[in-house]
Amino acid sequence: MKNNNKGSKMSFSESVNHMVDRALSVLDIDAGTAQALKACNSTLKVNFPVDIDDHIEVFTGWRSVHSIHRLPAKGGIRYAPIVDEDEVEALAALMTYKCAIVDVPFGGSKGGLLIDPNKYSRDELELITRRFARELVRKGFLSPATNVPAPDMGTGEREMAWIADTYKHLHPEDVNYSGCVTGKPVAHGGIRGRTEATGRGVVYAMREFFRYPEEIKKAGLDGGLAGKTVVLQGLGNVGYHAAKLLHDEDNCKIIAIIERDGALVNNAGINIDNIHHYNIENKTVKGYPDAEFIEDGKLALELECDILVPAALEAQITEVNASRIQAKIIFEAANGPVTFEGDEVLRARGIPIIPDAYVNAGGVTVSYFEWIRNLAHIRFGRMERRYDETRGENILKAVEAMTGKEPPEWVRQELVRGADELDLVRSGLDDTMRLGFQQIKEVLDNNDKVSDFRTAAFVVAVNKLTRSYQDIGVY
Ligand code: NAD
Repeated sequence: MKNNNKGSKMSFSESVNHMVDRALSVLDIDAGTAQALKACNSTLKVNFPVDIDDHIEVFTGWRSVHSIHRLPAKGGIRYAPIVDEDEVEALAALMTYKCAIVDVPFGGSKGGLLIDPNKYSRDELELITRRFARELVRKGFLSPATNVPAPDMGTGEREMAWIADTYKHLHPEDVNYSGCVTGKPVAHGGIRGRTEATGRGVVYAMREFFRYPEEIKKAGLDGGLAGKTVVLQGLGNVGYHAAKLLHDEDNCKIIAIIERDGALVNNAGINIDNIHHYNIENKTVKGYPDAEFIEDGKLALELECDILVPAALEAQITEVNASRIQAKIIFEAANGPVTFEGDEVLRARGIPIIPDAYVNAGGVTVSYFEWIRNLAHIRFGRMERRYDETRGENILKAVEAMTGKEPPEWVRQELVRGADELDLVRSGLDDTMRLGFQQIKEVLDNNDKVSDFRTAAFVVAVNKLTRSYQDIGVY
């Protein structure tokens, strides 16, 4: 098998399967079911021509469906100069486990297009995306009922809007057409809070972890999330939103940011809005005035810090550098940033890793909300917001009449405010991330054979998937 898992002896799929095997080894699941759980259902590969600037270019893309025990199968589409069949299959498998952990009733899928999006104009990308979407629709790999993509590396709401529009033109009779993809712009059937969802979910996961003093102590930390030092890799969609929240609301100090062209380090903390704007304007973090620049950015993964957040690529922490990691805890915002061998080293060193299949599940969670919104054809909160406001006002009036006193202004404001869609999305996301962590911790606390968060998370997933397979049967 081809090895695309840079710095690792095994492929990305093998790495994921080994991690799942660790969970299977502490469970009493028959070999056939275990095999069925891990098997990838199907992978489509397409080569398609596009007329770019008076010449024809052939592009290659994949869409892999790992599981169909629940439909639609769900997972992002990435545009990257390095992507292949093994990578999308590994990512599709992670989607299956992720959805199970956070109780999102979808199967797992993932797509990839071999392209460097920075090398193409907006119009060219639209042509390429629409053509890729047509291939997926025609081959049965894109529809609201069976397979629903979302943004991932190198794609965002713009690409999702093009995909939805392409599907609509091919299937105008499908009243639910806008549910064929999530992560769309709000004006085109998207949901408020989807763009920030994965990064925000990462922070909700951190906040939940820091509610357990015994876990904080085990990680060699103390106190709450406030004031913790953070090293972040990847200032893209996930990394930026996580870092912004950590900086603005949780009072964390982002002491290093690793990007594709190097790392910025400042022990006093880096202002996230400033570096974000600088990065967008200059398309590099190099030259940013308020931090030291390190050419070999990956070295910054090894800096001393409380929390390490890899939010860029897979296979960043391997057997090569795992022994040099000095973070007290790792939250995997990216998919697969720690290889199986790297994970073994870190486990032996007692550095906790809160795993990708849980930590970055905020994206698919809010995608689920968006899909429901598309099928319901109504914005969350539209029916009840004014009703809730009137009810709040009436309760206030009754309390004031009975007590003869007026509450403080902030209490009044909170009571008479009906929740809008963003409030509801954030509330649902927070609840999901909290419950997910609690289920993982329950396994960790009650199963003597499980001593790390990743194995516990896969135990949660495998148990739910096994139940689902056994309830329905295999046919
Ligand atoms: P993105 O394309 O928005 O951002 C990725 C960032 O990583 C970019 O800023 C890029 O410059 C940087 N980068 C690329 N190569 C790098 C390198 N070698 N070193 C350091 N930085 C590098 O992608 P994203 O959507 O933020 O996704 C990041 C990770 O999170 C991926 O693993 C993705 O699968 C995962 N993820 C994303 C979502 C989502 O909703 N977007 C959901 C779940 C998981």
